[in-house]
Amino acid sequence: MPLITVTCVILACDLCRQNFEPDDYTAHFDGANEARVAAETYGWSVTAEDRVICPSGDAEHRQALLPPTRAPGPGQLALVDASPEAGR
Ligand SMILES: [Zn+2]
Repeated sequence: MPLITVTCVILACDLCRQNFEPDDYTAHFDGANEARVAAETYGWSVTAEDRVICPSGDAEHRQALLPPTRAPGPGQLALVDASPEAGR
């Protein structure tokens, strides 16, 4: 029986390193695009920077999914997070 090396792609959350396991096992993909589509199908997020974020929902994960903010211009005040979770 020959031994064959196979290269595949698996996903893990960029923040907490949780493996992508939609059916209780680590999914293997032929390529990154297939992995990205599957991740988004199961509620994971793929950011513009190609970071993969699980749907944990804690403050760190929510923060990673916010769009980048611009520094306030001259005479402008910075926005303050008024969500109930802010400051936890
Ligand atoms: Zn995570």
